[in-house]
Amino acid sequence: MKIMKFGGTSVGKPERMHQVSQLITKDAESKIVVLSALSGTTNALVDISNSLAESNRVAAKQKIDNLEAHYRSFVLDLVKLDENRVKANAIVSEHFEFLNIILRISFSEALNKDILAQGELMSTKLFCVYLEEQGIDHLLLPALEFMVIDANEEPNFPAIRTKLTAALAEHTDKKIFITQGYICRNVRGEVDNLKRGGSDYTASLVAAAINATVCEIWTDIDGMHNNDPRIVNKTVAIEQLSFDEAAELAYFGAKILHPTCIWPAQQENVPVKLLNTMQPEAAGTVITKEAGSVGVKAVAAKDGIIAIKIKSSRMLLAYGFLRKVFEVFEKYRTSIDMITTSEVAVSVTIDSDVALAEIIKELEPFGTVEVEKDQSIVSIVGNEIAKTDDVLMKLFDAVREIPVTMVSYGGSPHNISLLVPKEYRTKTLQLLNSGLFGL
Ligand code: ASP
Ligand code: MG
Repeated sequence: MKIMKFGGTSVGKPERMHQVSQLITKDAESKIVVLSALSGTTNALVDISNSLAESNRVAAKQKIDNLEAHYRSFVLDLVKLDENRVKANAIVSEHFEFLNIILRISFSEALNKDILAQGELMSTKLFCVYLEEQGIDHLLLPALEFMVIDANEEPNFPAIRTKLTAALAEHTDKKIFITQGYICRNVRGEVDNLKRGGSDYTASLVAAAINATVCEIWTDIDGMHNNDPRIVNKTVAIEQLSFDEAAELAYFGAKILHPTCIWPAQQENVPVKLLNTMQPEAAGTVITKEAGSVGVKAVAAKDGIIAIKIKSSRMLLAYGFLRKVFEVFEKYRTSIDMITTSEVAVSVTIDSDVALAEIIKELEPFGTVEVEKDQSIVSIVGNEIAKTDDVLMKLFDAVREIPVTMVSYGGSPHNISLLVPKEYRTKTLQLLNSGLFGL
């Protein structure tokens, strides 16, 4: 059994749903199809929720009506038979009636989660009506019945596995299962979600839970590229990546894959394939246990980084200093991305300023604290990178003109990270594209 996940743009138009139906019927292998909400829907729902949180019911009502109009015309193009249009419109009515009812009740965090779930609930149900019209046998497997998170809001993997396996065992006659990405139930039994972009996570969790043959993530680009195609002119798709390399890339800026989605597939050793709905024949990128080749494979950048430097003569020959520094970050639940140390200073980077003021205040007793905002991490990712082909030389040669503020290598053989002021991020990516890839 395999998993096929389709993102918002892959289901965002009726003709794209048609393509998806062709892709899922191409081979005879049984499959679980994970769908996102139609593109733009989750953003619209966030907007509606925000208006409600501000008690701006008029604005919320306007946004609900706009979104409903979008779905009404979607339905008109999606299915042709009267009876199916009636069915599809009934689905749209049901969900928009819900949204209109909540206009009248007081807003809460639980309600917010309910609102955000409407997108995936509608996309999957509408897709099922479409499959019905095409005469494609299938079964809708509601994610809310098996996708559960624990008290820490992390997926409860053993429970997901048990529930999903049981649900599938009831329908051994079916070959195509449709389910929602992103949405789940929390420990209180309420509707919740796996955070924005979480459909990839759903796909990977489902794939791991049933030990799928492959987890296919279908988007609108032909795999993970060696550099950011939105910034750099010439980029190429990467053939193969190891789970570790993919995790580094996803975390450090490659938008195509959600960073959390690597571990479940890695844990159960299910290969992940990144494929393009618009170009289904393209090989895409395959992510497996093996890296496939050695050397540099990609560069990616992450913005919004804050560098914090703590200088202290007390660090000289002292032990326990780093622990004290790290405890401050732990206390404020702020994770550190990059770290470098010298004999009298330690520099770290973080990507959230939520607790910055408190962190600085608690670090000050340790020494002088310097903060630099608006930095970007440029990550060079690959397999045993520094061992091959004079990579370090080429790398530093390429970034000669860039005022690099931090360098980190050695934490893993898959990553060299440079910290640069944000205004140099684009230039750095371009220079590395020619310097490291000759593109
Ligand atoms: N629809 C959700 C979002 O836009 C989940 C996803 O698409 O992955 O964040
Ligand atoms: Mg997505």
